[in-house]
Amino acid sequence: MYTFTKQDICDWCHAPSFVTKHEYIDGKHHHSCEKCLSFAIMDVRQFNQAEIEFRNRANAQQ
Ligand SMILES: [Zn+2]
Repeated sequence: MYTFTKQDICDWCHAPSFVTKHEYIDGKHHHSCEKCLSFAIMDVRQFNQAEIEFRNRANAQQ
């Protein structure tokens, strides 16, 4: 599922490394190295959950 074939800067530890792409539901994306993968997955999941809740609340108020 996660492949580390691209060389870039990791957005979590800011070290140059082979990275994998994490997509956010708002269209943004970040890259993480293999070392930061579990943190990155958690961060992205939390962000996406918060975004979904925010959208649900916004929709409910209309
Ligand atoms: Zn990293």
